[in-house]
Amino acid sequence: MDRSKIWIIIAVMSAALLGSVFVQVYWIQLSLRENEQKFDDNVFTALRQIAQKLDDDEASLYNNMPNLSGGKSNKNSLTAWVEEGIISKAFPEDSIGQTIIGDRYKFTSTLAYARRVLDNIALADRIQLDNLNAYIENALHDVGVSTEYRYGVYEKSKNSFIILDGRHVFPETDAQMSQAPPDESLYNSKYEVNLFASELVKKPPGLLKIYFPQRSRFVWRNILPFMMASVFFTSLILMGFSYTIYVIFRQKKISEIKTDFINNMTHEFKTPIATISLATDSILSPMILTNVDKVKRFIGVIKQENSRMLSQVEKVLQMAQIDKQNMELKITEVNLHDIVRDAVEHINLQVEKRGGSVSALLEAMDPVVQGDATHISNMIHNLLDNANKYTVETPEISVSTANHKNGVIVTVKDNGIGLSKEARKHVFEKFYRVPTGNLHDIKGFGLGLSYVKAMMNAHNGDVDVKSELGKGSSFTLYFPYRQAA
Ligand code: ADP
Repeated sequence: MDRSKIWIIIAVMSAALLGSVFVQVYWIQLSLRENEQKFDDNVFTALRQIAQKLDDDEASLYNNMPNLSGGKSNKNSLTAWVEEGIISKAFPEDSIGQTIIGDRYKFTSTLAYARRVLDNIALADRIQLDNLNAYIENALHDVGVSTEYRYGVYEKSKNSFIILDGRHVFPETDAQMSQAPPDESLYNSKYEVNLFASELVKKPPGLLKIYFPQRSRFVWRNILPFMMASVFFTSLILMGFSYTIYVIFRQKKISEIKTDFINNMTHEFKTPIATISLATDSILSPMILTNVDKVKRFIGVIKQENSRMLSQVEKVLQMAQIDKQNMELKITEVNLHDIVRDAVEHINLQVEKRGGSVSALLEAMDPVVQGDATHISNMIHNLLDNANKYTVETPEISVSTANHKNGVIVTVKDNGIGLSKEARKHVFEKFYRVPTGNLHDIKGFGLGLSYVKAMMNAHNGDVDVKSELGKGSSFTLYFPYRQAA
């Protein structure tokens, strides 16, 4: 898949994802608004019901009142009401009595008269607290508003609350109670209804106000699970999408690297093949064939080129091995010292050419482990090869062995360019190469160490690196003595 196609897919998917997020946000907002509206409607319905109930209570009270138009003294009637408990609190008899007497003949019906009388009675006395509590609770319950609430009855003439959350407050003496900050939210609440607002009364005497501290939570309650589900699923899609893109790019990079690898390999093969061909041609020419020294020289060239090709083939095979899930190892008893000596001898030629040296400190008392000799040899070659490749100055390489726990440790140490913390984390990953600009001339595919890692795992061993930038590196291989049968 070419790059532009991948980008088009990313763009389309991102647009689709963004679009679906927008749609979801829109729906959530919409249902939130609907919920709020429903909540408001329900609360106002409940408030109207409560006010109506209080009115009804009062109306039934009037119907049971002593007949005021019977010529009896109104003053006595009022006193009787107080005694009978119809009016709960004594009120300044004189002033009201005055009003009543003065206005008596203006009222035609008992009800209207009583209403007029009651208008002069303090609001607090017209409301039965227990009833009010029950009405509020029932009404809210009936409309399905089951969240915590606070309520208050506000008397307009006093400019303050006279009832708060089921108890009387006396604004004259208890100023703090009604003006304290907690009431502010109650005072500002939009949920209110006029009390005793009959057509006979021009100005309703009070307001019932309700405040819901948890209103938002209540309104959100139904939406939240949906919102969380939609966030969850959107995140899943996003993660899946990102991972897919990541895999596509990685696969793309890997396939590029593989193509590179194959191209390089064929190129690398061509040179020794051509050289070998030239050498054999030369040997076959009668002039050379008789000259043993020259034949020897050409045979030497052929051998050298041959081993170069062998090492290339080895790399291709190593690459194939890394991907294998169940590696089949040819387990034999392997003397690590023999393998190390061979490898050191091999790399020494190259290191000596650069004026450096390779030392071997073979201190393990028991260097024999169970393992696959070819792979172990490849690993040590890889480490020595890297130690030489990634040392810019004169290479001083040392290989040491030691016994440790139930196995042998082989350490390859160099005085090379070293690895940063970030690089140390990734060196064992397939195709990872330290992105250092000035190292372009060092050839490699980032496969050597991932092969080492894969092989050490297959051997139930371990590989570790200690390194600092500019201070050389040291790679440690741990081989257990025994492999499970
Ligand atoms: P490569 O074929 O690139 O050498 P490796 O898997 O062997 O691949 O190594 C991965 C990368 O780790 C190398 O490209 C190099 O940057 C870094 N590296 C490996 N060995 C050493 C070392 N001894 N010193 C410094 N850097 C190293």
